[in-house]
Amino acid sequence: MIIDAHTHIHPDPHGFGSHKDASVETLVANLRSAGIDKAVVLAIEPDMGNAYVSKKCAEYPQLIGFVSLDPLSPTSVEETLRTYVGGGSMHGVKLHPRRQGFGIDHLHQVIKLVEQAAAYRVPVLFDAFPYGDTYYKIQEVRLIHEVAQAVPQADIIMAHAGGIHVMDALMVVKGNRNVVVDVSFTPFWFAGSNIYSDLVFMLRKLGANRILHGSDSPEVLPEQALEDTLSLCNQCGFSESDKSLVLSGNIQRILSKALQ
Ligand SMILES: [Zn+2]
Repeated sequence: MIIDAHTHIHPDPHGFGSHKDASVETLVANLRSAGIDKAVVLAIEPDMGNAYVSKKCAEYPQLIGFVSLDPLSPTSVEETLRTYVGGGSMHGVKLHPRRQGFGIDHLHQVIKLVEQAAAYRVPVLFDAFPYGDTYYKIQEVRLIHEVAQAVPQADIIMAHAGGIHVMDALMVVKGNRNVVVDVSFTPFWFAGSNIYSDLVFMLRKLGANRILHGSDSPEVLPEQALEDTLSLCNQCGFSESDKSLVLSGNIQRILSKALQ
């Protein structure tokens, strides 16, 4: 069993740029040709909205939807959770501080949201690839640390293993039993750099049970990302059973906690 724990689909196939195909049909075809059994699809309101993603996940049972919630709009959070997660059509929460305009300054609101999600026992994935206008402002890795401390019952996924901050991310994941990383996009973006070597060091220190495979498709093709993850596993000296944790066991364990 192989699960890609980080993908996107967009109603406009060129929604991720003219050279990438973000359609659901292409994602499903790419997963099949790469021998990948399932994928987590992350909604990001408003462009990749909850209604759109949940509809596509109902059409394609190999897709597992995560709902997009806005910590700056607390009145919508409970209702959206009840509709999609309580209703059983979505199985986790996606937060994207950079695209949604929040960060460490909104810690209190983010903690409140994660407490609400944790009541459904579903994981909360944070984008953690600092980039662009808000590069110094959001402090994704620190935000995740503070939330993980405040809501120890929540399962938190740090996407992209912290991006450029892999060493900070290592200390945060080591220090918080309720945090795991996904290895999407970062090995691709930082290939050939010291960050890539640090990523290998980080993953080896963390151990296989804290790591999820992911592609960030359509940013990286699922087949390419699978090769990248297997290469990282080999450089860490992981065994076959370690690899099966990274490729599916860990995300299955996290998703199995949800209230039925
Ligand atoms: Zn992503």
